Amino acid sequence: AGRRIEVSVTVSPLRDSNGQVVGASKIVRDITQRKQKEAELGRLNRTLKALHDSNRATMSAGDESQYLQEVCRIMVQDCGHAMVWIGFAEDDADKSVVPAAHAGIEEGYLKSLRLTWADTERGRGPTGTAIRTGKPCVCRDMRTDPAFAPWRQSALERGYASSLVLPLLAEGKAFGAVTIYSKEPDPFSESEMKLLGELAGELAQGIISLRLRAERARVQEQLRLLSSAVESAVNGIAITDRQGQILWINPAFTRLTGYTLEEAVGASTRVLKSGKHSAEFYARMWATILRGQPWQGELVNRRKDGSFYTEEMTITPVRAASGEVTHFVAIKQDITARKRDEERACLLADAVGQLLQAEAPQRIVHELCEKVMAFLDCQAFFNFLVDEQSKRLRLNAWAGISKEEAGKMEWLDFGVAVCGCAARDGCRIVAENILSTTGPRTELVKSFGIQAYACHPLKAQERVLGTLSFGTRTRARFSEYELALMKDVADQVAIALERQSAQAALRRTAAELERSNQELQQFAYVASHDLQEPLRAVAGYLSLVEDRLRDGLDDKGRHYIAGAIEGAERMHTLINDLLELSRVGTRAPAFQSADLNAVLDIALKNLGASIQKSGATITRSALPTLRVEANQTALLFQNLIGNAIKFQNERPPEIHVSAREEAGQWVLGVRDNGIGIEPQYFEQIFQIFRRLHTRKEYSGTGIGLAICKKIVERQGGRIWVESQPGRGSTFYFSIPDRQA
Ligand code: ADP
Repeated sequence: AGRRIEVSVTVSPLRDSNGQVVGASKIVRDITQRKQKEAELGRLNRTLKALHDSNRATMSAGDESQYLQEVCRIMVQDCGHAMVWIGFAEDDADKSVVPAAHAGIEEGYLKSLRLTWADTERGRGPTGTAIRTGKPCVCRDMRTDPAFAPWRQSALERGYASSLVLPLLAEGKAFGAVTIYSKEPDPFSESEMKLLGELAGELAQGIISLRLRAERARVQEQLRLLSSAVESAVNGIAITDRQGQILWINPAFTRLTGYTLEEAVGASTRVLKSGKHSAEFYARMWATILRGQPWQGELVNRRKDGSFYTEEMTITPVRAASGEVTHFVAIKQDITARKRDEERACLLADAVGQLLQAEAPQRIVHELCEKVMAFLDCQAFFNFLVDEQSKRLRLNAWAGISKEEAGKMEWLDFGVAVCGCAARDGCRIVAENILSTTGPRTELVKSFGIQAYACHPLKAQERVLGTLSFGTRTRARFSEYELALMKDVADQVAIALERQSAQAALRRTAAELERSNQELQQFAYVASHDLQEPLRAVAGYLSLVEDRLRDGLDDKGRHYIAGAIEGAERMHTLINDLLELSRVGTRAPAFQSADLNAVLDIALKNLGASIQKSGATITRSALPTLRVEANQTALLFQNLIGNAIKFQNERPPEIHVSAREEAGQWVLGVRDNGIGIEPQYFEQIFQIFRRLHTRKEYSGTGIGLAICKKIVERQGGRIWVESQPGRGSTFYFSIPDRQA
């Protein structure tokens, strides 16, 4: 049993003095050591090459993962290791080691590792130990090393025999490791380990500088984005020191104020002061921001060219690490246009409000147009209205010229001058640059020194009511915005004029109606009153005749006289009812607080006889105390209950009076168990003389419900009926709750 050794054999011929070969000598030398040395040298060489190559890779690296990949590849290729991988130590709960790159025979090995750098079984392998300790760690023989137990099986399956792990260090701490698997046990010499250690150091440096580079690029990109955002912001931005001296502005600030970066830097923000705000205003602002609180507000500033603008500004104090305020960042937004729109909206709303309230819009056209004029920087306005009779335009309101001049143009024909044309054609006419043009149309306004003139027709449903025009002596043109505002005002004035004329017409009709109503009432009252007298005489004389001729009269004669008396009596009731009806309307209603229980009692007392005769039972729910016309309401109950008793079959009447409150009013009901009413008559029965029965069936004049309706409506209520034929009726009426 011996050790296999490597030998070198040298065989040399042995010669005699004549040169004849006489034998041979054989020298056998043990060269194991030399071979080993050679192999080691070869490996060292290869490792050196790897170091060199990886050095190059570090120089040219762009992307971290590519770089790691490349280094693994170089180590496998140059040194002939079975597998090389690089992993990073995570600071997660498991302290896991996450593989980032590998090369060589891997076959899913890394996935199965589940490595950690924690001090646990899976952390006590070479990689975990190297990371934990920050020192290289060798597993000389996987077959026997007990620390390698958890991975032995799968490592041997892949032909690994030993491993060397080198920590990747940053400031003395391992942030990862490079792990090398060799096919042979114990292959790493001291020198090789040293070289590999250097390589790992190189690698760690490479990774760190790559990461720094990436971080710097990210920050730079962020800065670039930030500054381009600030540069291109629509809001003006200025950075100042604690004293308000400008250090930097963005282009929007220049657009807003007219000051360029060069002009602004070094200047004080005071250059923007407009003088439109009080000293306290600025004092308060400074106090706020010097306290370190942001300030926000609206203010008027002055541009470089002297013009004013309104801005909304937020000033944010910037604090140094020590906490003191060192800078301010001011963000400004031009809100001149918004302000102007707001003012315009106010102006219009104001106009509409005034025009709607005004009894005579013509009068306030003047006031309104004065305001619009000031707003638009105009010095003259004219308002013509169409005069229907003369078919001409008449000057209704004006400003900006003398009384004499106005007097001369009181009347204007259609088609003459700008306004006459606008009225004739029903469309807007804008005349600009008037002073430098000639033409018959603009001659008149030109004579007033007006340079730009706009005339809007006042139109209501395509009918031209007149014109409204504005003129300026200070400019040759109007902006679109100004013309639009003029149109809005003109439209509002037209609407108000239209409304006013409609109202005037309505008032006329109402007055007319009122008058004819009054006449009618007067007539009804006089007629019924004056008819009473002769009628009483007729009835009186008839009874006298009856008395006197009592014995001389035959049946027929008596029948005739009885008929005549009955007729006269009926007429008497009829006239009484009519009188009642006309009385309801003659006086203005006088409301007083009355307990409707008491009011109902009066009605029932008046109906005493017929209640008794009919055997009616009358019940009630609790009735409220309301402000009503007490007498008339008694009459109302009386009529409704009278009808309820009257329109019955044979049954004794059962009548119930109820009251309920709903939505600011009371609804009273009179329910009966009488004959009922067909739905188609629900409306008609409230008209005068409307009856559904002959006098033979049920007596009456057909005026009762008309009186009821009049009483209810005078009190601001409504009356209606609900009924089913044969099932009784309920008459409802409402009374507004005047106490509420
Ligand atoms: P009049 O009672 O004098 O006939 P009204 O104006 O009081 O006149 O009533 C008009 C008509 O309405 C009555 O003729 C009757 O046909 C109908 N009517 C009124 N009240 C009732 C009622 N409670 N039940 C049924 N029908 C009624």
